Amino acid sequence: MTLLLQSVTDLDGRFLDVRLDGATVADVAPAGALAPRPDDEVHDLAGHHLLPAPAEPHAHLDKALTSHRAPNSTGDLAGAIVAIREISAGFTHQDLVDRATRAAHEYLANGTTAIRTHADVGAHAGTRHARALVEVREALAGLVDVQVVALASAPWAPGEAELNARLLEEAVDLGVDLVGGAPHMWPDRAAGLELSFQVAQRRGLPLDLHTDETLDPTAQGLLHLARRVRSTGFAHGVTASHCVSLGVHPLDVARATAAEVAAAGVGVVALPQTNLYLQGRDAPVATPRGLTAVRTLLEAGATVGAGGDNLRDPFNPMGRADATEAASLLVTSGHLSTREAWDAVSAGARRCMGLPVPVVAVGAPAEFVAIAAESLDAAVAGAGTARLVLSRGRVVASTQVRRVFPGRAVSQS
Ligand SMILES: [Zn+2]
Repeated sequence: MTLLLQSVTDLDGRFLDVRLDGATVADVAPAGALAPRPDDEVHDLAGHHLLPAPAEPHAHLDKALTSHRAPNSTGDLAGAIVAIREISAGFTHQDLVDRATRAAHEYLANGTTAIRTHADVGAHAGTRHARALVEVREALAGLVDVQVVALASAPWAPGEAELNARLLEEAVDLGVDLVGGAPHMWPDRAAGLELSFQVAQRRGLPLDLHTDETLDPTAQGLLHLARRVRSTGFAHGVTASHCVSLGVHPLDVARATAAEVAAAGVGVVALPQTNLYLQGRDAPVATPRGLTAVRTLLEAGATVGAGGDNLRDPFNPMGRADATEAASLLVTSGHLSTREAWDAVSAGARRCMGLPVPVVAVGAPAEFVAIAAESLDAAVAGAGTARLVLSRGRVVASTQVRRVFPGRAVSQS
């Protein structure tokens, strides 16, 4: 079976018919030029923008949908960690699987067809979260591409460093896809980087580190990571997530770091929702934006992705599992153009995840979301929530919206 998408508007404003054959784009022609074939499933998408499907490069499906169970009393990162550690003992395997599965379906309904999720590994979680998320990955195979990162917890109490290192090895044995960590949370940041780096290198897995999730202008974890990658020739792929401190470095310092990041091939994932929520709580006046230096990184030629991070948990009580939310925040708080912002949540996110990038061109991967909207701005602003999600040559999710204004002849769909 093939899909014929009639009268779509693409990212470049072209008005097109597009035929998808399985996992690839088979035909692209001006709107009206492709006649339906007997085996085509035809969708008239006039009034829709056909966008490369987003990917979520940084989720925490193990924590998702728990904000009502554990409010963050201080609203900052430390408060979120305290809250999640208090409730994680009550996370049964089934609870983890159920919440992660529900969250993944929310992402998919909104157009996200690939998700990289971290799984807490450490004294408070053991390897339970990793085991559950590996199970979810297998259950969703063929529907959503899930990558699981074993997030090695920073030691929170004496003796936890050795325990967490052992648990990280056990999580890798369970079949996770990447090694993670949060070196900036360690009392000894170099030791935190060393643990995750060594395990990833020894096991031959990519690395995705929470990096410099702080407004401390002296934090240089990203620079140290980039230099480590270059000096060791680490070749399995490296992503640095958050990198908030880069946004408060002096411009010349940030530019120098960004150049090293680009040269090292380290992808950077910006996470505006969670960072804007957690960061800057101690600055009630002229509160700094908790956002990495997206413009400086792009100018340096670095790979920049963006995602939603936490989904209604103690780290972020908001979140719609919708890449339009992260993209619109990049426009508002990161001063990217709408096109740049969509690139960050789709092509950039996929590059960070080591995935091919969909484009409207013959032979390209056919992963798209068609959003009912008169412009790219309207699509990303979320004004048109009606959408069709296309993956692997079929419709995998469809959302219709109908608004009625009683007593008036106006309706929107
Ligand atoms: Zn995270």
